[in-house]
Amino acid sequence: MTTREELINRRAAEAERIAVSLARQKGERRSTIKGGEGTIAWVTENLCIGCDQCTIVCDDDAIELYYKDMVSPLLNVPSNRKAQIVRDACTGCRLCVLSCPTDAIKMIDR
Ligand code: SF4
Ligand code: SF4
Repeated sequence: MTTREELINRRAAEAERIAVSLARQKGERRSTIKGGEGTIAWVTENLCIGCDQCTIVCDDDAIELYYKDMVSPLLNVPSNRKAQIVRDACTGCRLCVLSCPTDAIKMIDR
């Protein structure tokens, strides 16, 4: 029978395997996304779910969250957040594109 310690070790090994795999995939994907000084990130508002992942990875404080009213007043909740790029602060590093779970961010020419 599997012991608790074996289970913990197996879980840790699996988490490491997933982390390595994700890092490799991100590295491969990053090389396919245009970036650099001539580019800037752009958020498609209706795809953004306000999850805050992009602001966490952005080292340049180039992403702000704002609150947007719901379409219906019946759904007036304070949690409808959206991300927007601070144009002058964005360095075109692409990290936010990789972090976004809904593919709401893309790189465009500056
Ligand atoms: S491209 Fe880089 S600097 Fe620009 S908003 Fe995304 S994470 Fe921040
Ligand atoms: S990571 Fe994507 S979905 Fe999440 S707040 Fe940023 S742009 Fe919106």
